[in-house]
Amino acid sequence: MSKVLIIGAGGVGRVVAYKCAMQPQIFSEICIASRTESKCKEIANDIKKELKYQTISTSQINADLVNEVVDLMDNFKPVIVINVALPYQDLPIMEACLKSGVHYLDTANYEPKDEAKFEYSWQWKLHDRFKEKGLTAILGCGFDPGVTGVFTARAAKHIFDEIHYLDIVDCNAGDHGKAFATNFNPEINIREITQKGKYFENGQWVETEPHEISEVINYPDIGPKKSYLIYHEELESLVKNYPSIKRARFWMTFGDEYLTHLRVIQNIGMAGIKPITFKGQKIIPLEFLKAVLPDPGDLGSGYTGQTSIGCRIKGIKDGRFKTYYIWNNCHHEKAFNETKTQGVSYTTGVPASLGAELFLKGIWKNPGVWNVENFNPDPFLDLLGERGLPWNEEIDIDLEL
Ligand code: NDP
Repeated sequence: MSKVLIIGAGGVGRVVAYKCAMQPQIFSEICIASRTESKCKEIANDIKKELKYQTISTSQINADLVNEVVDLMDNFKPVIVINVALPYQDLPIMEACLKSGVHYLDTANYEPKDEAKFEYSWQWKLHDRFKEKGLTAILGCGFDPGVTGVFTARAAKHIFDEIHYLDIVDCNAGDHGKAFATNFNPEINIREITQKGKYFENGQWVETEPHEISEVINYPDIGPKKSYLIYHEELESLVKNYPSIKRARFWMTFGDEYLTHLRVIQNIGMAGIKPITFKGQKIIPLEFLKAVLPDPGDLGSGYTGQTSIGCRIKGIKDGRFKTYYIWNNCHHEKAFNETKTQGVSYTTGVPASLGAELFLKGIWKNPGVWNVENFNPDPFLDLLGERGLPWNEEIDIDLEL
């Protein structure tokens, strides 16, 4: 029986709140706090009505300000905070956790606002301070990062003696019917996919031009999809935690139409993150673009098709070469029927609430700052299907890559 604070009331925050409320014996009381409190209230009202869960409150907060987060924590007294605001808020929220003695979980690593650069160094630096305070911080507990790290941990624990080649493959074969929309926060999404590609090979990071490398990959129940090599944050922690890895890459599908829109957005300067002056006011083009694009949290209604995300791994077991594929497929419609939002928010929110559940059960508890693969993957994967994301695996098949 524990209180949980959820910060962020977008599509992911909605799913986290629903999933926590579905486990009232674990999460006895929820506070959902965000910049715009009306969005928190909408989620809380839906949960009260649909799930008959009444111990949910809301709060307005600017999570960029450590003191505001500390005040809310000192007032509500949560055991853990699930941070599903934006990556910019990671450090202030972690700082507030250290001041108020609250455990921490997030789904995306810290990014400075003025530079599209995401890496774990800033958060890993807080390891000793979390450890001294006896506080656990679980980083990147969404799907990717998140479940992909847990999948890799399962492979390392049960399937291989040494992992040599890791390919994370992420396909969204859904159709939301919009000309252009992103499936999670547009600002963060566009920053992520317009940057240079990067993969790890033979102890070094190799940089590519954006979307320079592509392959047609077959996804289960979906079929062949053009997939592009991009950089993704979990590669950084996985190559560190599994030093036998010789090559690690991340692939994501994008449709031609999506890439054309993206190219135009970049060419006309709308993906810019440096402030410009417009009618005497400073605005950031990408922030303005976010304001006119569809809200990813509202894409759910009528969204058809499914996502498929997994790890394709090659390595050695008992001196023999082995291949392994582990994945989940998630239907947008099913996600919407359960939580009123689409599959990408769902595949992020389910693992976040499950990570917090395992922490509260004392299973994923270890003072310090950790990535998900540092914890035992078995209890997580035992429950993942039951919580809404069933997974599959195949051994010794052709991995294509
Ligand atoms: P949204 O933009 O829909 O929601 C973000 C929420 O955070 C909004 O409610 C927003 O408030 C709030 N917020 C922003 N700034 C502040 C602030 N300073 N103080 C308080 N609240 C703030 O994003 P998503 O729900 O799509 O994504 C949430 C997070 O999940 C992101 O960090 C994203 O990177 C991560 N993610 C992780 C994935 C994974 O698999 N690991 C996949 C997809 C997403 P307002 O409503 O006022 O804008």
